[in-house]
Formats: sequence, structure tokens, C-alpha cells
Amino acid sequence: MSQELRLMAVHAHPDDESSKGAATTAKYVAEGVQVMVVSCTGGERGDILNEALKGNTRIERDLTQVRRDEMARAAEILGVQHTWLGFVDSGLPEGDPLPPLPPGCFALEPVDVTTEALVRVIREFRPHVLTTYDENGGYPHPDHIMTHVVSMAAFHAAGDPTAYPHAGQPWQPQKLYYSGWSIKRIRTIHDAMLAEGLESPYEDWVTGARNRPERDVNTHVECAEFFPVRDDALRAHATQVDPEGFWFAVPMELQQRVHATEDWELARSLVEPSFPESDLFAGLRELDLEAVCRQEPARDADGEVVVAYRSVPPPPVDADGDGIDDARQTDDLHDEITEVEGHHDRDQSHEADEAHVDAHGDEQAS
Ligand SMILES: [Zn+2]
Repeated sequence: MSQELRLMAVHAHPDDESSKGAATTAKYVAEGVQVMVVSCTGGERGDILNEALKGNTRIERDLTQVRRDEMARAAEILGVQHTWLGFVDSGLPEGDPLPPLPPGCFALEPVDVTTEALVRVIREFRPHVLTTYDENGGYPHPDHIMTHVVSMAAFHAAGDPTAYPHAGQPWQPQKLYYSGWSIKRIRTIHDAMLAEGLESPYEDWVTGARNRPERDVNTHVECAEFFPVRDDALRAHATQVDPEGFWFAVPMELQQRVHATEDWELARSLVEPSFPESDLFAGLRELDLEAVCRQEPARDADGEVVVAYRSVPPPPVDADGDGIDDARQTDDLHDEITEVEGHHDRDQSHEADEAHVDAHGDEQAS
């Protein structure tokens, strides 16, 4: 059945759409799929991480507008549609003890309010597939964790005529995926870099991988052809991304050769999956999706949609035996922020983290 397919990617900040699953979205756009990126926040609390742009008063005066412009450019490069959910960046709390989150930020908004906003966008765009982050947010930034919470709530509410009745006609997306960097991808690229005598940017990640639960990465989308598009989109976030930095440290040819896919975790599916999957729309293309997504899904006692498949979160890893999930450790958090998410890096955090960074014998990503 030839019908329009629609994919919605929910992200926390502008630039996340270009670092997580971007090549997949560009590939689907090229195939004629309608793709909508939703940014939950405006990234107002990001810092300028590109050395060449630091101290630029025009940028510093209105970073919010600059980031809007960067996002528009990135969306154009990826070929996606884009919308802001309209909430305010929570920033990254730092210090010991951690300071409270700033009033009015995304992570502190009532979940009903944020969920309604996303439900409204889902009912307008009517995606068949939704993507978001896993329950740890992919990494433990408050906005990323909240993005997960809100996406899950909206996935379960969007098709419910009694939920947010003023937010549009019910619409039930059929699948929900978590984006993420699989440990296998990191190791494969890391090993290939070393084998070719190159310096791997993933040393810390490989070391830290023992503290990260192995996720059930069950879907692999071939999209190597679109890796350069992904990089161009990332570069469009010029204030947030150092063009000489971490994100671009692996030669394109090597990435395309040794790990040609982006990896996804199918988390909820109303259709029976057949693993491993290579297409986010697997099992959906043959359905009459307009009718299927309009149909009110069955619900369990908790009000959650009854699904044919749900992934099981891995048990928390507690390598140091302190009773705290290592994925949520503050020390790890700073590592992750500097390595994965440049845009939340803070100058003042470098000093505080120096001992930790030295212990890894590696440099900050920015
Ligand atoms: Zn982010």
C-alpha cells in the first residue's frame, strides 16, 4: 500500500536532533517520508562552545535567537519539519549539593502541561512512529529524562479521546523507538581507529561502558550515505559545536565502512515486530495506517496502551556498589555532558572536574 508515512522525533534541545538519529531522519526524508522534529526546549541555557565564536557580543546578547536560527538551518539541511514545544531549558545543575532547578524550566513543569503540549503536536502531525530517549534520557540531563517521560505519557494519551479532549482528534502512533549510541557502535569505531593507528575520541566511553547497562538495540537502519548530512546539520549549530572537536574526530570514510547504521531500540509497538529490524516502519507499511491510528487502542489497568511488544529496561549497573545506579551518578553525569553533549558543558565545571578527567587520562571534548 502506497501511503504517506510520518515520523516524529522528540528531542530535548536544538542540536540533539542532529547528534541522535539525524542520518536516519535524513534518509527517511529522502525516501519521501514526512519527518517532524520537536524540540521540547529552546536550549536557552546552552553555552557557547565554539572557540571561534566565544566573546562574540552579538551572539552573547541574544543566544536564544541565534539558536533558533541555527535550528532552522539544521532542519533545512536534514529536510525535516520542525516545531518548538515552547518550554525553557532546565540547564545542567552543578555543584555539591546540586542547586535546585531554575523556576519555570521544562523539568519542573507539571507533566500534564508538557504532555498536553506534545499530544497536541502529535494529533496535528499524526505520526505513525515516534522516537525519543530511553528512561535514563540517553544520558542523565534533566531535560532529556523529562523528554522521555513526556514522550511516553503522550504516546499513551494521544489516542485516548478522554485525554486532553481540547488538544485535537485522537491519534495513536503505532511504534515508539529510543535513539541512542549503542555500545557496540562505540567499540567498533574505537577499535577501528586504534587498528589504523588513529587516536580514538571514545576512550572514555569504552572505559565507562562497564558502568552503562547494555541496552536492547534491536533495530539497525542503514544510513551511511547520510552521515555527511548529519555532520552538516550538526555544524549548523555553530555556537554549540566545535568544528574541530569531538563530533568530527572520526574520519567519515571509516565510520561509513565499519558501522554503516544508526541503532535504535524499539520500546513499544502495537504490531508484532520481527527482530532484528532495519526499518522504523517495519510491519506498518502494509497497514491502512489512517484507519489503524484512528482506532482507539485497548488499555491495561494502568491506562497504558496494550502493545504487542515492549522492551525491558536493563537492570541498573552499580559497579561501585554504592547503591546508586551508575548511569545517574553525578561524576558520570559530568563525563557524559562533556563528551556526549557539548552544549551543556560549562567552563566552570572544567576545574571542578579536573581530577576526574585526569584519572581518565583524556581531554575534555570541547
Ligand atoms: Zn540536549
